[in-house]
Amino acid sequence: MAKLTSAQTDALKQQLNQQRAGLWEEVRSELENSGNQHFRDFIGDVADTGDNALAETLADLNATIVDRQVHEIRAIEEALARIEDGSYGACSDCGADIGLSRLEVQPAALRCIGCQTVHEKTHSAAAPSAR
Ligand SMILES: [Zn+2]
Repeated sequence: MAKLTSAQTDALKQQLNQQRAGLWEEVRSELENSGNQHFRDFIGDVADTGDNALAETLADLNATIVDRQVHEIRAIEEALARIEDGSYGACSDCGADIGLSRLEVQPAALRCIGCQTVHEKTHSAAAPSAR
């Protein structure tokens, strides 16, 4: 059971922040191109409030066009919170180490590969629909 070193955690944290920034760019362009003045105003407001709890703010907007991004941003924010509280890298279901190789591919992963497979089978009906 190899625990993550602080250098590894830092690298993953940086990756999470980059992913989050990329998703936010997607959200911005979706909202800007939506032609909806309320959404366009929202972008300006969020820019002013800074980065904290972006997913919550976006969820309040209730814009289905950015649902996927909001879900992913939320997962990333939760992963960042787990890094802060020291629970990052452990499977939320069984508590085993998720493993660096899996985290490098998917730094926001919540479960080890075994639990994730079970979860997807159990929740396949709720899988995101194709866009
Ligand atoms: Zn597990």
